[in-house]
Parts: sequence; structure tokens; C-alpha cells
Amino acid sequence: MSAPLLEVSNLAMHFPVREGLLLRAKAFNRAVDGVSFSIGPGETLGLVGESGCGKSTLGRCVARLYQPTGGSIVFDGQDITRMKAGALRPLRQDIQMIFQDPMESLNSRHTVGDILEEPFIVQKIGDRLWRQKRVAELLNTVGLPARSATRYPFEFSGGQRQRIGIARAIALNPKLVICDEPVSALDVSIQSQILNLLVDLQREFKLSYLFIAHDLAVVKHVSDRVAIMYLGKIVETAASETIYHQARHPYTQSLIAAIPVPDPHRNTERQVLYGDVPSPINPPSGCSFHPRCPVAEPRCAEQEPALIDTGSGHLAACHLVQRQP
Ligand code: SF4
Repeated sequence: MSAPLLEVSNLAMHFPVREGLLLRAKAFNRAVDGVSFSIGPGETLGLVGESGCGKSTLGRCVARLYQPTGGSIVFDGQDITRMKAGALRPLRQDIQMIFQDPMESLNSRHTVGDILEEPFIVQKIGDRLWRQKRVAELLNTVGLPARSATRYPFEFSGGQRQRIGIARAIALNPKLVICDEPVSALDVSIQSQILNLLVDLQREFKLSYLFIAHDLAVVKHVSDRVAIMYLGKIVETAASETIYHQARHPYTQSLIAAIPVPDPHRNTERQVLYGDVPSPINPPSGCSFHPRCPVAEPRCAEQEPALIDTGSGHLAACHLVQRQP
């Protein structure tokens, strides 16, 4: 088995909550709180959870848009957790992000050609002629005509803009792409086109993906493994098929029950999830899911369950699941 491309260990991102005239930190928002996972070359890990569970913050930590407050991130054999901006610059080629709303990440005053040329200028790659040829190739790769280079982002539909965002993300031949809810803002009919494009690009360029979504149905078709995140922690992780058919954690079971597609094999006893994710500033005691858990026991409010291997690398953090030898 090849070495992981990305290894995240016990990662934490605690934002201080400041109050008063002196802006002293009165509390901490534990957006990411002790998360570990790895991604192999060419692999896709789906990261799923409701809004406010910390998955986007985790993605930004891995891309080193945030400086984590604890734990470590080893990328391609290098510890990048506390690397300074100068040392990170060459690595920016290898780790790229695709965002939910490409309008926010695409400079609306620049043409698409300028936007796609910029990564090469920043990394001092090629002359103007070479870069323009490369921009045309990139547009072709993501299914847009070369003439798109002279137009502005607002002239395109949401799906086309996401293609431009993807073209920019793959421009420098990255090894890892962090896809942060890349289809959540798109019509269902367009979602599958963008997902298919991402799968095709992964095969062609041997990309690894960290694919963040709030919808399990979306990650199902693109992920090799899936990690379920709740209130800053991973509560279950397994191979994609295993998660969908043998989920062990009550939170994952609730997310599956919420998928609005009729499934004749679905276990109808599964409970639908009520209530919101609690505040990560003041998380519940014990198992942080216990106030919403349909099968919680008294001990759940007192003891935090460990993330244990329930067999064949299927990890779950729940008092009701058994560790396998
Ligand atoms: Fe529910 Fe208890 Fe398991 Fe948490 S530990 S998921 S509260 S049963």
C-alpha cells in the first residue's frame, strides 16, 4: 500500500471568542477539535456533516488558509502545519481549493483568461504566449469554448462558473484538491455534470480529493471513503458503500434517513434528525450528539465515546458500538 499523500493527526482549530474593551479571549470556538484522517494518492475522502460542524474550517486548515491551533498536517512527506507563507508558496501549486460559490473566488473585474493565467504568473511559469495556449487547453478540459477567455465571470451560468473555478484549481497540476461544497449552489441537473467532470479529471490527472458536502447523496458517487463530522470531530468513517449500507453511528443513520430518494432497502426504523448542531463554543458534555440522539443512554451525557475500529477499518464513536479484535 502506498504512503498517504495527506496525513492529518489530532488537528484542532480553536478560534478565540473575544469580548470587552480589551478584547480578551473569554471562550473558544472549537470548530475543529482533534480530527485525524489520511488520503492516499488518487483517492477521494468525502467529508460530510451539517452546517456548522466544522468541515469547511477543516478544509481551510488543510489548505493552510488557516493556521491550525493544534495537531499536525503532513502533506507529501512534509509537515506543513506551521510553515510560514514563504515556504508554503511552492506548495500552493500542489494543494488547491474549489469553493461553493465561484463568484466569490473569481475576480469579477477580470476576464476568465486573466483569472486562469494568474496562477502561472504568480508561480512565474511560461511566457504570455505559452500561458494563453495553456488557458485555452484548460477551458477545453473543463468543457468550455476557448473564446470564453475574453468574457467575464458574470456572463456565465452557475455551472459554467464552477467549471471556470475547477479550471483554475487544476491549472498548476495539483496533487490534492479540496472541494468545499462544489455543487451545493447548483441546480440538481447541473450537479451531476460537475460531479462527472470532477471524476473524469481525477482519472486523467490522478488527483486526490477531500470532498466536503452536507449531503451524503452527493458524496456517494465520488468518494472511496467517507468521514462523518459532528461538532468539530469525526464520529464515523468507513468505505463509501459501508457507510451507506452499514452505518453504525446514530448521527450517520439520521443523515442517511434524511436523503430524499426512495430506497426500497432503507431501514425504515431509522430516525430523522431534529434540532440544530449545538454551539461549538459550549458543546454538550459526554457525547456531543446526545441531546439529539434518538437512542442516547444516561452514560452518553457523561462519557465521551472514543473513535474505535468496529472491524475492517470502519471507525465509529458511540457507546453502543463494539470494538473488534
Ligand atoms: Fe447516541 Fe450515546 Fe452513541 Fe452518542 S454515544 S451517538 S448519544 S448512543
